[in-house]
Amino acid sequence: MPDRAKPRVIAFANQKGGVGKTTTAINLATVLAAAHKVLLIDLDPQGNASTGLGLDRTERGAGAYALLIEGQPLAEVMRPTGVPDLSLIPADTDLAGAEVELVAMEDRERRLRQALHTDKARTAGFDYILLDCPPSLGLLTVNALVAADSVIVPLQTEFFALEGVSQITQTIDRIRRALNPSLALEGIVLTMYDRRNNLSELVAQDVRGFFKDKVFETVIPRNIRITEAPSHGLPVTVYDARSPGALAYVALGEEMLRRQGAR
Ligand code: ADP
Ligand code: MG
Repeated sequence: MPDRAKPRVIAFANQKGGVGKTTTAINLATVLAAAHKVLLIDLDPQGNASTGLGLDRTERGAGAYALLIEGQPLAEVMRPTGVPDLSLIPADTDLAGAEVELVAMEDRERRLRQALHTDKARTAGFDYILLDCPPSLGLLTVNALVAADSVIVPLQTEFFALEGVSQITQTIDRIRRALNPSLALEGIVLTMYDRRNNLSELVAQDVRGFFKDKVFETVIPRNIRITEAPSHGLPVTVYDARSPGALAYVALGEEMLRRQGAR
């Protein structure tokens, strides 16, 4: 259980798209919200986390752009979701311009960190703040990694899983050296694991050989219910709580809490 006065901030990052960042962020957020107060910030201009939690593009209003660029207070850009104790700061339509606008800004890498830290009165109520990153290593992802206590890297269980992984691990190292010395690797999570395919097991062994105990024991299976859930505006853990995908995310949440407790 994290210190109530300071939420644990966890970023979901990988410069590859379609590896399960958003799915993992919204489902872990939902699982954690069963016992904690959780805030999810959608930092991807595509806004999949916002849509996946039932907030259509037309209903979004002010969100991550207003927080980061315009300096609006957290309380004004945050909204409840259908999941009790899970709040959302959506991707607003202007967020697509943020990468470019940040370049010219003072403290461009620290905007999010400052927003979360100066707004103590509001962030104090949260146990966890989860940050869903876009599929790039630009300034939005850098802002997330600078604001975060730890990062979860989802890897799709496919033949080239380890290809390109050095880009994200080198970025994490660079952020640690220059901007956020205490950034931890919370873990690597294998997604879209296919039990019927021997290749999945080989890839999993390969990734575990490389990252050792940094890889979560829980793997997320490829599951049709996970694919369907976003079109209903629901995390799979709510859409079909008994599906293999939902059960895997519950197990992942438990494993993460167990590991945090052990540290
Ligand atoms: P990212 O955020 O890294 O781009 P997403 O979480 O949006 O990736 O996942 C990409 C696509 O794959 C989405 O359509 C999502 O519904 C689907 N998906 C993610 N994880 C699984 C899974 N375990 N099984 C089946 N489909 C999945
Ligand atoms: Mg995404």
